[in-house]
Amino acid sequence: MTVYIDVQHMGDPVKKGRMGAAFGEDINQTEAYYTSLYAFWMGMFLRQKGHEVINISDGQYKDRHARVNYYDERNRNSDTPSVYIACHLNAGGGSYAAQFYDSRSAKGKILANLMNEGLLNLPQIRSVKSIPCHNEDWTKNAFYCIKRIGYPVAICCEPLFIDHPPHQELLTVDGMKQLGEAMALGIHNFLELA
Ligand SMILES: [Zn+2]
Repeated sequence: MTVYIDVQHMGDPVKKGRMGAAFGEDINQTEAYYTSLYAFWMGMFLRQKGHEVINISDGQYKDRHARVNYYDERNRNSDTPSVYIACHLNAGGGSYAAQFYDSRSAKGKILANLMNEGLLNLPQIRSVKSIPCHNEDWTKNAFYCIKRIGYPVAICCEPLFIDHPPHQELLTVDGMKQLGEAMALGIHNFLELA
């Protein structure tokens, strides 16, 4: 069972040097600095559980999605489930963890709920939302991060707000390890069920 973990916001050959949302001038005050860390620990946890993990961190979103679909078609045996995680952190004054799934995907909703269940093990995460996303309204930015993914169950993952003080306690290397492993447990549980 393969999990594709995509650190978005960096490695775009057109938008060079971007690192996503920032709360300061330094590189360790940017979204992609932290998503790189939680993506690493998420991947290692899943590898330890016996899953195949492919990390993605370059290209425009449409190219990344095409590549993931290509890898997945090559590697998949019949109905073996696979998962795609677009790694983000949120900004803008909220206080919840959010997992966005394609509004047409029943499995996406289950995976989102399981990842959120894992996050609720962390005392800093008090509130979680599984949010269906589509091409209209405010959820379209999240949808854009996953919309060209084919067979893999896809999540746009926003586990905390970088400007919410209780969540900021997790903006450390160890905090990102906890965050990545908490969500990886949910992904593992999903793959066991699927
Ligand atoms: Zn983002």
